[in-house]
Amino acid sequence: MLNISPITAFSDNYIWLLSSKKSTSAVVVDPGDALPVIVALEQQDLELSAILITHHHVDHTGGIRRLLMHYPSATVYGPTGEHIPAIDQPLKEGDRVCLEDLGVNFDVLDVPGHTAGHITYFGAGALFCGDALFSVGCGRLFEGTPEQMSASLAKIAALPQDTKVYCAHEYTLDNIGFAKWVEPDNPELLAREDEANAQRQRGEPTLPSSLGQELRVNPFLRTHIPQVKQAAEQFADRELDSVAEIFGAVREWKDSRYD
Ligand SMILES: [Zn+2]
Repeated sequence: MLNISPITAFSDNYIWLLSSKKSTSAVVVDPGDALPVIVALEQQDLELSAILITHHHVDHTGGIRRLLMHYPSATVYGPTGEHIPAIDQPLKEGDRVCLEDLGVNFDVLDVPGHTAGHITYFGAGALFCGDALFSVGCGRLFEGTPEQMSASLAKIAALPQDTKVYCAHEYTLDNIGFAKWVEPDNPELLAREDEANAQRQRGEPTLPSSLGQELRVNPFLRTHIPQVKQAAEQFADRELDSVAEIFGAVREWKDSRYD
Protein backbone atom coordinates (compact mmCIF):
# COMPACT_ATOMS: atom_id res chain seq x y z
CA MET A 1 0.00 0.00 0.00
CA LEU A 2 1.46 3.31 -1.14
CA ASN A 3 1.39 6.22 1.32
CA ILE A 4 1.39 9.68 -0.21
CA SER A 5 1.77 12.75 1.99
CA PRO A 6 2.54 16.40 1.39
CA ILE A 7 5.65 18.24 2.51
CA THR A 8 4.99 21.98 2.38
CA ALA A 9 7.69 24.25 0.95
CA PHE A 10 8.00 27.97 0.21
CA SER A 11 4.63 29.73 0.38
CA ASP A 12 2.40 27.29 -1.48
CA ASN A 13 4.41 24.36 -2.92
CA TYR A 14 3.74 20.73 -2.10
CA ILE A 15 6.56 18.20 -2.36
CA TRP A 16 4.79 14.82 -2.43
CA LEU A 17 6.43 12.10 -0.33
CA LEU A 18 5.81 8.48 -1.35
CA SER A 19 6.49 5.64 1.04
CA SER A 20 5.31 2.14 1.86
CA LYS A 21 4.84 0.21 5.10
CA LYS A 22 6.85 -2.64 3.57
CA SER A 23 9.98 -0.56 3.02
CA THR A 24 12.18 2.14 4.54
CA SER A 25 12.63 3.69 1.09
CA ALA A 26 10.95 6.92 0.10
CA VAL A 27 10.50 8.89 -3.09
CA VAL A 28 9.78 12.60 -3.47
CA VAL A 29 8.24 14.51 -6.35
CA ASP A 30 9.54 17.98 -7.34
CA PRO A 31 11.72 18.86 -4.32
CA GLY A 32 12.16 22.61 -4.77
CA ASP A 33 13.77 22.72 -1.34
CA ALA A 34 15.86 20.04 0.38
CA LEU A 35 15.58 20.91 4.07
CA PRO A 36 11.87 20.17 4.63
CA VAL A 37 12.36 16.87 2.79
CA ILE A 38 15.33 15.86 4.94
CA VAL A 39 13.40 16.77 8.10
CA ALA A 40 10.39 14.71 7.02
CA LEU A 41 12.51 11.71 6.03
CA GLU A 42 14.47 11.75 9.29
CA GLN A 43 11.29 12.06 11.37
CA GLN A 44 9.91 8.95 9.67
CA ASP A 45 13.19 7.01 9.52
CA LEU A 46 13.07 6.88 5.74
CA GLU A 47 15.89 6.75 3.20
CA LEU A 48 15.46 8.61 -0.09
CA SER A 49 15.72 6.20 -3.03
CA ALA A 50 14.40 8.31 -5.90
CA ILE A 51 13.43 11.82 -6.95
CA LEU A 52 10.79 12.41 -9.64
CA ILE A 53 10.88 15.74 -11.48
CA THR A 54 8.05 17.08 -13.68
CA HIS A 55 9.72 20.21 -15.14
CA HIS A 56 12.71 22.49 -14.80
CA HIS A 57 11.37 25.39 -12.71
CA VAL A 58 13.54 26.04 -9.68
CA ASP A 59 10.70 25.70 -7.16
CA HIS A 60 10.51 22.06 -8.35
CA THR A 61 14.23 21.29 -8.75
CA GLY A 62 16.14 23.56 -6.33
CA GLY A 63 16.54 20.87 -3.66
CA ILE A 64 17.99 18.11 -5.86
CA ARG A 65 21.69 18.87 -5.28
CA ARG A 66 21.47 19.03 -1.53
CA LEU A 67 19.29 15.92 -1.36
CA LEU A 68 21.92 14.02 -3.36
CA MET A 69 24.58 15.14 -0.87
CA HIS A 70 22.49 13.53 1.89
CA TYR A 71 21.29 10.54 -0.13
CA PRO A 72 23.94 9.93 -2.82
CA SER A 73 22.40 6.67 -4.03
CA ALA A 74 19.03 8.24 -4.91
CA THR A 75 18.08 8.03 -8.59
CA VAL A 76 16.83 11.22 -10.22
CA TYR A 77 14.13 10.87 -12.89
CA GLY A 78 13.01 13.79 -15.04
CA PRO A 79 12.00 15.02 -18.47
CA THR A 80 14.38 14.34 -21.32
CA GLY A 81 13.51 17.61 -23.05
CA GLU A 82 14.62 20.06 -20.35
CA HIS A 83 18.00 21.12 -19.06
CA ILE A 84 18.01 19.84 -15.49
CA PRO A 85 21.36 18.91 -13.96
CA ALA A 86 21.71 15.61 -12.10
CA ILE A 87 19.02 13.67 -13.95
CA ASP A 88 20.08 10.01 -14.15
CA GLN A 89 17.04 8.70 -16.00
CA PRO A 90 15.69 11.03 -18.70
CA LEU A 91 12.03 10.25 -19.49
CA LYS A 92 9.54 10.85 -22.27
CA GLU A 93 6.02 9.68 -23.04
CA GLY A 94 5.75 5.91 -23.16
CA ASP A 95 8.51 5.38 -20.61
CA ARG A 96 7.76 3.64 -17.33
CA VAL A 97 9.37 4.26 -13.94
CA CYS A 98 9.59 1.09 -11.82
CA LEU A 99 10.00 1.88 -8.13
CA GLU A 100 10.59 -1.63 -6.88
CA ASP A 101 11.11 -0.66 -3.22
CA LEU A 102 7.63 0.83 -3.12
CA GLY A 103 6.07 -1.77 -5.43
CA VAL A 104 4.72 0.81 -7.83
CA ASN A 105 5.17 1.74 -11.50
CA PHE A 106 4.49 5.12 -13.10
CA ASP A 107 3.78 5.74 -16.77
CA VAL A 108 5.13 8.97 -18.21
CA LEU A 109 2.96 11.38 -20.20
CA ASP A 110 4.32 14.37 -22.12
CA VAL A 111 2.23 17.43 -21.26
CA PRO A 112 3.89 20.46 -22.91
CA GLY A 113 2.43 23.92 -22.31
CA HIS A 114 3.57 25.26 -18.93
CA THR A 115 7.11 24.33 -20.01
CA ALA A 116 8.13 22.72 -23.30
CA GLY A 117 9.25 19.41 -21.79
CA HIS A 118 6.84 19.05 -18.85
CA ILE A 119 5.98 15.43 -17.99
CA THR A 120 3.55 13.80 -15.56
CA TYR A 121 3.71 10.50 -13.69
CA PHE A 122 0.63 8.24 -13.63
CA GLY A 123 0.38 5.03 -11.61
CA ALA A 124 -1.26 3.37 -8.60
CA GLY A 125 -4.36 5.49 -9.24
CA ALA A 126 -2.38 8.70 -8.76
CA LEU A 127 -1.26 11.46 -11.11
CA PHE A 128 1.69 13.70 -10.21
CA CYS A 129 1.08 16.56 -12.57
CA GLY A 130 3.49 19.28 -11.40
CA ASP A 131 2.30 22.62 -12.77
CA ALA A 132 0.36 21.23 -15.75
CA LEU A 133 -2.95 20.84 -13.94
CA PHE A 134 -4.05 22.46 -10.69
CA SER A 135 -7.27 21.89 -8.82
CA VAL A 136 -9.78 24.14 -10.63
CA GLY A 137 -6.94 25.60 -12.72
CA CYS A 138 -3.91 24.89 -14.85
CA GLY A 139 -0.36 26.14 -15.26
CA ARG A 140 0.47 29.33 -17.11
CA LEU A 141 1.75 28.99 -20.66
CA PHE A 142 5.38 29.99 -20.19
CA GLU A 143 6.81 27.91 -23.03
CA GLY A 144 3.86 26.47 -24.94
CA THR A 145 0.85 27.39 -27.05
CA PRO A 146 -2.85 27.08 -26.17
CA GLU A 147 -3.03 24.24 -28.73
CA GLN A 148 -0.28 22.30 -26.93
CA MET A 149 -1.68 22.86 -23.45
CA SER A 150 -5.21 22.08 -24.55
CA ALA A 151 -3.98 18.78 -26.04
CA SER A 152 -1.97 18.03 -22.88
CA LEU A 153 -5.02 18.57 -20.67
CA ALA A 154 -7.15 16.41 -23.00
CA LYS A 155 -4.62 13.62 -22.51
CA ILE A 156 -4.92 13.97 -18.72
CA ALA A 157 -8.73 14.16 -18.96
CA ALA A 158 -8.76 10.75 -20.66
CA LEU A 159 -7.26 9.01 -17.60
CA PRO A 160 -9.64 7.11 -15.27
CA GLN A 161 -11.96 9.50 -13.43
CA ASP A 162 -11.06 8.09 -10.02
CA THR A 163 -7.41 9.09 -10.53
CA LYS A 164 -6.19 11.14 -7.59
CA VAL A 165 -4.64 14.39 -8.75
CA TYR A 166 -1.52 15.52 -6.87
CA CYS A 167 -0.70 19.07 -7.99
CA ALA A 168 2.41 20.94 -6.91
CA HIS A 169 0.76 24.09 -5.53
CA GLU A 170 -2.02 25.09 -3.15
CA TYR A 171 -3.85 27.41 -5.56
CA THR A 172 -7.35 25.95 -5.27
CA LEU A 173 -9.24 28.80 -3.59
CA ASP A 174 -7.71 31.44 -5.90
CA ASN A 175 -8.57 29.24 -8.86
CA ILE A 176 -12.16 28.88 -7.66
CA GLY A 177 -12.38 32.69 -7.43
CA PHE A 178 -11.64 32.87 -11.13
CA ALA A 179 -13.70 29.83 -12.16
CA LYS A 180 -16.81 31.46 -10.69
CA TRP A 181 -16.47 34.21 -13.32
CA VAL A 182 -16.57 31.55 -16.03
CA GLU A 183 -19.32 29.35 -14.57
CA PRO A 184 -21.12 31.31 -11.83
CA ASP A 185 -24.01 28.83 -11.78
CA ASN A 186 -22.09 25.56 -11.61
CA PRO A 187 -23.35 23.95 -8.37
CA GLU A 188 -20.41 21.52 -8.26
CA LEU A 189 -18.02 24.48 -8.30
CA LEU A 190 -19.81 26.14 -5.38
CA ALA A 191 -19.70 22.84 -3.49
CA ARG A 192 -15.97 22.57 -4.19
CA GLU A 193 -15.53 26.09 -2.80
CA ASP A 194 -17.26 25.10 0.45
CA GLU A 195 -15.15 21.95 0.66
CA ALA A 196 -11.87 23.78 -0.05
CA ASN A 197 -12.69 26.54 2.45
CA ALA A 198 -13.36 23.95 5.14
CA GLN A 199 -10.13 22.08 4.29
CA ARG A 200 -8.04 25.25 4.52
CA GLN A 201 -9.71 26.27 7.79
CA ARG A 202 -8.70 22.91 9.22
CA GLY A 203 -5.16 23.58 7.98
CA GLU A 204 -5.37 20.74 5.46
CA PRO A 205 -4.37 20.71 1.80
CA THR A 206 -7.19 20.84 -0.75
CA LEU A 207 -5.30 18.05 -2.55
CA PRO A 208 -5.39 15.48 -3.88
CA SER A 209 -8.56 16.08 -5.81
CA SER A 210 -9.89 13.51 -8.25
CA LEU A 211 -9.93 13.75 -12.00
CA GLY A 212 -13.70 13.20 -11.96
CA GLN A 213 -14.12 16.21 -9.68
CA GLU A 214 -11.82 18.32 -11.86
CA LEU A 215 -13.88 17.45 -14.93
CA ARG A 216 -16.93 18.84 -13.12
CA VAL A 217 -15.38 22.09 -11.80
CA ASN A 218 -12.17 23.00 -13.69
CA PRO A 219 -12.91 25.48 -16.50
CA PHE A 220 -9.70 24.49 -18.31
CA LEU A 221 -11.02 20.92 -18.62
CA ARG A 222 -14.49 22.14 -19.57
CA THR A 223 -13.84 24.00 -22.83
CA HIS A 224 -16.42 21.72 -24.52
CA ILE A 225 -19.20 22.93 -22.17
CA PRO A 226 -21.53 25.54 -23.79
CA GLN A 227 -21.45 27.87 -20.74
CA VAL A 228 -17.63 27.92 -20.78
CA LYS A 229 -17.55 28.58 -24.55
CA GLN A 230 -20.07 31.39 -24.17
CA ALA A 231 -18.16 33.04 -21.31
CA ALA A 232 -14.86 32.74 -23.22
CA GLU A 233 -16.44 34.30 -26.32
CA GLN A 234 -17.78 37.15 -24.22
CA PHE A 235 -14.27 37.78 -22.86
CA ALA A 236 -12.61 37.49 -26.30
CA ASP A 237 -15.42 39.47 -27.96
CA ARG A 238 -15.52 37.08 -30.92
CA GLU A 239 -16.64 33.61 -31.90
CA LEU A 240 -14.26 30.83 -30.89
CA ASP A 241 -14.32 27.79 -33.13
CA SER A 242 -12.08 25.21 -31.43
CA VAL A 243 -11.51 23.96 -27.91
CA ALA A 244 -7.92 25.24 -28.19
CA GLU A 245 -9.19 28.75 -28.95
CA ILE A 246 -11.67 28.56 -26.07
CA PHE A 247 -8.89 27.29 -23.80
CA GLY A 248 -6.60 30.12 -24.95
CA ALA A 249 -9.24 32.75 -24.22
CA VAL A 250 -9.99 31.38 -20.73
CA ARG A 251 -6.24 31.24 -19.97
CA GLU A 252 -5.77 34.83 -21.20
CA TRP A 253 -8.79 35.92 -19.16
CA LYS A 254 -7.32 34.42 -16.00
CA ASP A 255 -3.86 35.90 -16.71
CA SER A 256 -5.47 39.32 -17.06
CA ARG A 257 -7.17 39.11 -13.66
CA TYR A 258 -4.62 37.36 -11.46
CA ASP A 259 -0.87 37.29 -10.94
ZN1 LIG B 1 6.39 25.61 -13.00
